[in-house]
Amino acid sequence: MEGDVMNIQKSIGTGTTLIHAGEPEPRIRGAVSMPVFQSSTYEYAGVEGDSELKYIRWNNTPNHVALHEKLAAVEEGEAALVTASGMAAISTTLLSMLKPGDHVLAQRALYGGTYSFFVTELSKLGIQVEFFDGNNPSNLTSLVRRETKLIYVETIANPLLHMADLETVVNCANDTDVISVIDNTFATPVNCKPITLGFDISLHSCTKYLNGHSDLVAGGVIGRTDLIEEISGTLIRYGGTLDPHACFLLHRGLKTLAVRMEYQNASGLRIARFFEDHPAVEKVYYPGLESHQTYKRARKLLSGFGGMISIDLKDGVTAAQRFMDRLEVALVAPSLGGVETLVSRPVVTSHVGVPIEERKALGITDSLVRLSIGLENTDDLIEDFKNALE
Ligand SMILES: *Cc1c(COP(=O)(O)O)cnc(C)c1O
Repeated sequence: MEGDVMNIQKSIGTGTTLIHAGEPEPRIRGAVSMPVFQSSTYEYAGVEGDSELKYIRWNNTPNHVALHEKLAAVEEGEAALVTASGMAAISTTLLSMLKPGDHVLAQRALYGGTYSFFVTELSKLGIQVEFFDGNNPSNLTSLVRRETKLIYVETIANPLLHMADLETVVNCANDTDVISVIDNTFATPVNCKPITLGFDISLHSCTKYLNGHSDLVAGGVIGRTDLIEEISGTLIRYGGTLDPHACFLLHRGLKTLAVRMEYQNASGLRIARFFEDHPAVEKVYYPGLESHQTYKRARKLLSGFGGMISIDLKDGVTAAQRFMDRLEVALVAPSLGGVETLVSRPVVTSHVGVPIEERKALGITDSLVRLSIGLENTDDLIEDFKNALE
């Protein structure tokens, strides 16, 4: 079946690709929706050689194959791989590309789990990590050494939502022959396709927007076939595979990604403007506001600004806590990218593992509130925020 998956041309829109790419052709017993194959192992059916055996941990069941095709098509990469979580995508990619003695350049503002993986796990293996300013990486090439193997950035960094200078990073990686890796979770392929900008590998926590329904944990890796094959081998050895039922749910969630993002882009911008005009709000961080530090870059490199907003209130931590306590529509919870609006304080959630000095250097205050705008009616959310700020 995997040999004759539908071949979608690149000129087709992202919404169409999300729905049709990777679907079995012909449909399995006519089923319009891809069924779930909840089977750990498969019969030998004229298979020659091990590589064609099917087994869930080998990431090659019909559910994996369809999902890989869909993900690769939507981000315009040659191949893709799904993993048991976003962290499994990140750790497996890094462990696959790096060995003891290597040096990595990573953007300073990183997802907390990634930061902690770099400083705890990679250092145990004798892999050196050096951090640089993703907003202003003008000195990046001078940091590259003979041992430098990989440069790591995030499209939009959590929680101040600054957009890294992706063009400088890609140029540096190409000039110095270093692998460029980007975590594209916050932007999604609807708003940014890093492979088309020249990145070697794009990573996702599919737990967030790609699935979009806050009901599973999954990861994705997209890139050139040779790189994905290498990472796939590492994933098989470490065992961080995605279960077929989670594949099925992610597959279903992906089909609506384009419509969800278009709505969240529009709602995010309206809500960011509402906060910017509100007297109780000290500062709003949203890539689509002209007041945001990396607005020009975001305008150039993104096709939408997304649903993530951070705000700092005038009266600090108490005001932040009161605002969160008073919300009636939005839920107070970590994570992001689902249909329901989620609000959290990064210092006690996503950045709890980042040392205080490091947080200060990044400009993340204790009173910062991060919002993941969901799919509720924008007017209802604005009303909820207005009441909570009173
Ligand atoms: C959530 C997240 C991760 C980790 O993903 P999990 O699915 O929780 O393992 C990595 N990067 C970013 C940007 C995230 O938001």
